[in-house]
Amino acid sequence: MGIIEKMRLDGKKIFVTGGARGIGKSVATAFAEAGADIAIVDVDLKEAEKTARELQENHPVQAIAVQADVTKPRDVKATTTKILDAFGRIDVAFCNAGICLNVPAEEMTFEQWKKVIDVNLTGIFLTAQAAGKVMIQQGGGSIINTASMSGHIVNVPQPQCSYNASKAGVIQLTKSLAVEWADKNVRVNCISPGYMGTELTLNSPSLKPLIEQWNKMAPLHRMGKPEELQSICVYLAGDTSTFTTGADFVVDGAFTCI
Ligand code: NAD
Repeated sequence: MGIIEKMRLDGKKIFVTGGARGIGKSVATAFAEAGADIAIVDVDLKEAEKTARELQENHPVQAIAVQADVTKPRDVKATTTKILDAFGRIDVAFCNAGICLNVPAEEMTFEQWKKVIDVNLTGIFLTAQAAGKVMIQQGGGSIINTASMSGHIVNVPQPQCSYNASKAGVIQLTKSLAVEWADKNVRVNCISPGYMGTELTLNSPSLKPLIEQWNKMAPLHRMGKPEELQSICVYLAGDTSTFTTGADFVVDGAFTCI
């Protein structure tokens, strides 16, 4: 079998949190193109159902929508139960749901701080933990977490201390889980995207005005497109990445190099 054939995901059962739109939707589409059955997990059920329908209509795979808030342990537990009922197993988890808040540190309320840490770090822990439990029982699996270049650098000018701290946490959480679960055949990796054109950036009142400035700073003078994260995720989900665990893939057009 050639390398491209080996990279296909036929028959794999994958869930994607924050899969209704943006990076999650784009990567879920690539997983479906590669032959996997997909559960779109999102707090926004209407959008999740729309995305699942699109995948189902355009690819010969099964796609379901599951409503869950990744910060709620009960929702996350119910999610794995629903996916196991529908698909029978979980081969890959793309733990990707995240939010961003730009507030100066000295003005940030406890609730604002907690919200970002809850979704971006605790949410990834809860979903990775739930997937990991299933995968350990099955004898293996692959978990991909979405961190950010903000876990590596303090990108300016927006004040984002809670976001930056949450994403640095995701990188270290990924490495910790990779080591804990290495002998259980559960691989855990993360991606650290640079600025990508999604709702999070393009339609955020506080971030949108900064795009021109970022583009001037960026070595490629542009933001990334969500589809530019597809191939790395398909690689990490599949069976050609069996020696890749505990890795953090920075996909940022060299933004963190400057
Ligand atoms: P987006 O806002 O377009 O999509 C995020 C999705 O997550 C939405 O569908 C939303 O409903 C869902 N979501 C939010 N909170 C949730 C919760 N509590 N439970 C379940 N679902 C929830 O954002 P995006 O740009 O696609 O970002 C996806 C991930 O990529 C995030 O973790 C983000 O931090 C990260 N990231 C984004 C960029 C960027 O520039 N866009 C850069 C680096 C990292």
